[in-house]
Amino acid sequence: MLSAVVGINWGDEGKGRMVDLFSERFDVVCRYQGGNNAGHTVVNDKGKFILNLLPSGILSETTVNVMGPGMVIDVEHLTHEIERLRAGGIEVSPKNLKISDKAVICMPYNKLLDCLEEDRLGDAKFGSTRRGIAPVYSDKYMKKAFRMGDLLDFEAVKKKMPFILEWKNLTVEKGYGSAPLQAADMIRWLADYGLPFADYVCDTTALLNEAVAQGKSVMFEAQLGALRDIDFGIYPYTSSSSTIAAYAPIGAGIPGKKLDEVIGIMKAYSSCVGEGPFTCELFDKSGDELREAGGEYGAATGRPRRVGGFDVPASKYGVMMQGATCLALTKLDVLSYLDKIPVCVAYEIDGERTEDFCIGGRLDRAKPIYEYFEGFKTDISACRKKEDLPKAALDYIAYLEKQVGCPIKYVSVGAKREQYIEMF
Ligand code: GDP
Ligand code: MG
Repeated sequence: MLSAVVGINWGDEGKGRMVDLFSERFDVVCRYQGGNNAGHTVVNDKGKFILNLLPSGILSETTVNVMGPGMVIDVEHLTHEIERLRAGGIEVSPKNLKISDKAVICMPYNKLLDCLEEDRLGDAKFGSTRRGIAPVYSDKYMKKAFRMGDLLDFEAVKKKMPFILEWKNLTVEKGYGSAPLQAADMIRWLADYGLPFADYVCDTTALLNEAVAQGKSVMFEAQLGALRDIDFGIYPYTSSSSTIAAYAPIGAGIPGKKLDEVIGIMKAYSSCVGEGPFTCELFDKSGDELREAGGEYGAATGRPRRVGGFDVPASKYGVMMQGATCLALTKLDVLSYLDKIPVCVAYEIDGERTEDFCIGGRLDRAKPIYEYFEGFKTDISACRKKEDLPKAALDYIAYLEKQVGCPIKYVSVGAKREQYIEMF
């Protein structure tokens, strides 16, 4: 069984929380794209954990976790992330964590260049998380990156470094006028933070193919939502990797296998971090109330997230691009304070109403068309069965299902592992 758990919206839909729930059912959990530019918050009986790089299955004792070739890994960040988990009593070792030899290392100069460029852009900034993700993916496609497998031949790394830095300094020093990068510093950084992971490095293709041959179940965990996909998202306000389910087998290491199931994680309202078009955005007091009710502050950066009502055109597009076979609706409990639930049912573009999402200039001109649905006005966080939910909540769920054209199989009513309802 190969399953992907992916985001339908702009990210932060609660993927980490759902993956944590599902991960116990899977033998292997893989991250297939991105780096430490986003965060998952998982609350379980061991405590509250923020994961930026590690697959969420790391919190489940029996799961093998894979960081696939599609990832970019800041090994210094990974070191600290693992230290925090160990302090919370979580075991992380080469037994339960496998890192692809093809995953790219996010270097300190990638981070530096991310910051230099955002600063240069000033008010026109992209809203980058400044974690070096766009620069490191650029290096990957320039074929000038270091990969995790390179750590297994450190002498070759030492030889390659001056050549890479000669090229980097053309930008860092001659372009931005920043202090030139020194090979000795970068080699020391890799020795300090990279080399300790040498024992974790493996060929995840061999590992995953063997797991599949043995009938084991594999889950692919996305880090960002459909609308952040480099090709199909709100470019250029996207991430630099492929976030959609179709890429999961490639980014994890088994491109020859097909997915059996795609679980789309969709939030009961909308949130978005950073710049870019976000048609359903609520700016007034109602937006502030929703942000507070949902605790919408970035897990990786602490930035306040932009919020809005559920966005029908965007979510319908997300469901289609992910090829979702079922959905998990998250954070429905957050809406209990509302008398009327705001839903962005369509967009008005150039004076015309449309339910279809679009990318580019048209999206920049889109205005939200809002309708209001009856609120349920009761605390639903203790509901565990469909029958426990008030009628207004059930009506809301049925409406969303119909609009996006995909069944909602799970409804999450709280951040804790057990706070969910299986609808069928
Ligand atoms: P991810 O990036 O998609 O994994 O999502 P984040 O972890 O960035 O954001 C989701 C936030 O909502 C986290 O703080 C979760 O603990 C919390 N959360 C997830 N599901 C629910 C839910 O159903 N109800 C409530 N109230 N909080 C939730
Ligand atoms: Mg997140």
